[in-house]
Amino acid sequence: MSYVITSPCIEEQAADCLDSCPVDCIEKGEDQYLIDPTICIDCGACEAVCPVDAIFYEEDVPEEETEFIAKAKEFFDV
Ligand code: SF4
Repeated sequence: MSYVITSPCIEEQAADCLDSCPVDCIEKGEDQYLIDPTICIDCGACEAVCPVDAIFYEEDVPEEETEFIAKAKEFFDV
Protein backbone atom coordinates (compact mmCIF):
# COMPACT_ATOMS: atom_id res chain seq x y z
CA MET A 1 0.00 0.00 0.00
CA SER A 2 1.07 3.57 -0.60
CA TYR A 3 -0.36 6.98 -1.30
CA VAL A 4 -1.54 7.64 -4.87
CA ILE A 5 -1.80 10.86 -6.88
CA THR A 6 -5.00 11.07 -8.93
CA SER A 7 -6.48 13.09 -11.82
CA PRO A 8 -6.64 16.61 -10.31
CA CYS A 9 -2.83 16.65 -10.53
CA ILE A 10 -2.97 16.59 -14.32
CA GLU A 11 -4.46 20.09 -14.46
CA GLU A 12 -2.53 21.47 -11.48
CA GLN A 13 0.95 19.97 -11.09
CA ALA A 14 1.65 22.36 -8.23
CA ALA A 15 4.46 20.10 -6.98
CA ASP A 16 3.96 21.16 -3.35
CA CYS A 17 4.14 17.46 -2.50
CA LEU A 18 7.76 17.16 -3.64
CA ASP A 19 9.17 19.17 -0.75
CA SER A 20 6.90 17.49 1.77
CA CYS A 21 8.06 13.94 1.07
CA PRO A 22 10.69 12.74 3.58
CA VAL A 23 11.84 9.89 1.35
CA ASP A 24 11.88 11.66 -2.03
CA CYS A 25 9.62 9.16 -3.74
CA ILE A 26 7.55 11.56 -5.85
CA GLU A 27 8.58 12.03 -9.47
CA LYS A 28 7.31 14.06 -12.39
CA GLY A 29 5.71 11.90 -15.07
CA GLU A 30 4.52 12.85 -18.51
CA ASP A 31 1.32 14.58 -17.39
CA GLN A 32 1.30 14.43 -13.58
CA TYR A 33 3.40 13.72 -10.51
CA LEU A 34 3.52 10.13 -9.31
CA ILE A 35 4.44 8.34 -6.06
CA ASP A 36 6.77 5.34 -6.13
CA PRO A 37 4.75 2.74 -4.21
CA THR A 38 7.86 0.75 -3.32
CA ILE A 39 9.44 3.66 -1.44
CA CYS A 40 6.44 5.54 0.03
CA ILE A 41 6.28 5.14 3.82
CA ASP A 42 2.60 6.14 4.07
CA CYS A 43 3.30 9.22 6.18
CA GLY A 44 0.53 11.30 4.59
CA ALA A 45 2.61 14.49 4.42
CA CYS A 46 1.98 14.95 0.71
CA GLU A 47 -1.77 14.51 1.08
CA ALA A 48 -1.86 17.38 3.56
CA VAL A 49 -0.18 19.89 1.25
CA CYS A 50 -1.80 19.07 -2.10
CA PRO A 51 -3.79 22.19 -3.12
CA VAL A 52 -6.24 20.19 -5.25
CA ASP A 53 -6.74 17.18 -2.95
CA ALA A 54 -5.38 14.80 -5.57
CA ILE A 55 -3.61 12.48 -3.12
CA PHE A 56 -5.23 9.55 -1.36
CA TYR A 57 -4.14 6.53 0.61
CA GLU A 58 -4.43 3.62 -1.83
CA GLU A 59 -7.38 2.08 0.03
CA ASP A 60 -9.24 5.39 -0.05
CA VAL A 61 -8.80 6.24 -3.74
CA PRO A 62 -12.28 7.06 -5.13
CA GLU A 63 -13.75 4.36 -7.37
CA GLU A 64 -13.51 6.54 -10.50
CA GLU A 65 -9.81 7.22 -9.84
CA THR A 66 -8.54 3.69 -9.26
CA GLU A 67 -6.80 3.64 -12.66
CA PHE A 68 -4.20 5.93 -11.10
CA ILE A 69 -3.08 3.12 -8.78
CA ALA A 70 -2.12 1.05 -11.82
CA LYS A 71 -0.69 4.10 -13.60
CA ALA A 72 1.83 4.70 -10.78
CA LYS A 73 2.77 1.02 -10.64
CA GLU A 74 3.34 1.01 -14.37
CA PHE A 75 5.41 4.20 -14.26
CA PHE A 76 7.72 2.80 -11.61
CA ASP A 77 7.68 -0.67 -13.18
CA VAL A 78 6.33 -2.35 -10.05
FE1 SF4 B 1 6.15 10.69 0.46
FE2 SF4 B 1 4.78 10.36 2.74
FE3 SF4 B 1 3.50 11.09 0.47
FE4 SF4 B 1 4.47 8.63 0.71
S1 SF4 B 1 2.81 9.52 1.93
S2 SF4 B 1 4.66 9.97 -1.08
S3 SF4 B 1 6.33 8.99 1.90
S4 SF4 B 1 5.03 12.29 1.60
